[in-house]
Amino acid sequence: MLSRIDLRGREPSVGELRNRLPRAGMDVEHALSAVRPVLDDVAERGVPAVLDHTERFDAVRPERVRVPDEELHRALEELDPAVRAALEVSVERARAVHADQRRTEVTTEVAEGGTVTERWVPVSRVGLYAPGGLAVYPSSVVMNVVPAQEAGVESLVVCSPPQVEFGGRPHPTILAAAALLGVDEVWAVGGAQAVGLLAFGGTDTDGAELLPADMVTGPGNVYVTAAKRRLRNVIGIDAEAGPTEIAILADDTADPEHVAADLISQAEHDTLAASVLVTPSEELAEAVDERLRVRVPATKHTERIRTALTGEQSGCVLVSSLAEGVRVVDAYAAEHLEIQTAEASRTAAEVRNAGAIFVGPYSPVSLGDYCAGSNHVLPTGGCARHSSGLSVQSFLRGIHVVDYTRQALHEVGERVVALAEAEDLPAHGEAVTARFD
Ligand code: NAD
Repeated sequence: MLSRIDLRGREPSVGELRNRLPRAGMDVEHALSAVRPVLDDVAERGVPAVLDHTERFDAVRPERVRVPDEELHRALEELDPAVRAALEVSVERARAVHADQRRTEVTTEVAEGGTVTERWVPVSRVGLYAPGGLAVYPSSVVMNVVPAQEAGVESLVVCSPPQVEFGGRPHPTILAAAALLGVDEVWAVGGAQAVGLLAFGGTDTDGAELLPADMVTGPGNVYVTAAKRRLRNVIGIDAEAGPTEIAILADDTADPEHVAADLISQAEHDTLAASVLVTPSEELAEAVDERLRVRVPATKHTERIRTALTGEQSGCVLVSSLAEGVRVVDAYAAEHLEIQTAEASRTAAEVRNAGAIFVGPYSPVSLGDYCAGSNHVLPTGGCARHSSGLSVQSFLRGIHVVDYTRQALHEVGERVVALAEAEDLPAHGEAVTARFD
């Protein structure tokens, strides 16, 4: 079922590997032409524009954008107890991991009387996007809200598309997840309109003010991504998330049933999702293909999964050795990387590029999607080479506070003047000497 790329007996350079490995394309530039007029309209007309575009793209016109408090509480009360219990575990574990990511203020005395303190200050107001087109993702509410709260963000607003079947409110599990997390501000808005409203703010139909946010985070489809790209100078963004990806580096000790189930699990997200197996074992590749042929027709979203697995973004890469496999997954820099090898921890320690690494047979990606404690908002499209997933750090700014005494400035003044002259910026030096003239 998976197309094959046979690299055995060859050692392509990293550049060649990046070109040859399967990867989904996402035409953000094309989507930009669709979102530009939407964003301009939201900037100019505010909420009436938001409601017009919502009606056009989501086929519903909510009577107001902000969801009333009592509806959040009702959604939580009415939530299926099993889902509530699962969300509670998800929140508890995510909170434990993200609480450990908090930064402490550090003061460095660089000279007597001269200090630099790095203060970590949370972003004041953050908009968290929870997708709600093809599927609803209460787990994304958890994965966005928890790190923001642990970072100390004071004001949080969750946006999610209004649903026709829920009278123009976001899906009840999104409302319930927000209520469970103590977020009391939820807006029924999705797509580019949501990013625009977060960036510019507006006045709701009942006269209440919807305050602009300083930053927007969270996954979304190509229109959400295009809107983030377009407004990144107006509002901070986390990353441009592309379609989800799983790479599995496995040897002949891996269980083909597990490998097949995990490749399918991520293909379930999206027809553009990428599932890539990298292995030195042709026997494993054959066995996985066989299991895919049985499992794909037996699962719920067969067509979506089949399209993703047979798309050009998915495939099986045969390599000469495990070491070569590590080189391949490093070049690919998957959003999610599973290691299913005889010495999985050792293999994992050699990997440099991945959004998150799932080690051994009992750490599937779907555990990380929901209940591992790790964050599931991760860099896609090879961005794991230079970026990290969402964390407490994403919501903090490190501000250097420089505090020198007269004596400490005097001692280093000559050096400042020398460098200022070397850069032909004498007024820089004069700003120091003026204090001692
Ligand atoms: P979404 O909420 O991102 O998008 C739905 C919105 O798109 C609608 O509200 C609508 O306003 C807008 N829209 C639809 N068609 C449009 C058009 N033609 N022009 C302009 N706007 C339009 O939900 P989705 O579509 O289901 O996408 C969610 C994405 O997020 C998926 O690709 C999924 O894989 C991804 N995701 C990623 C993660 C992660 O952590 N990486 C987690 C969850 C979801």
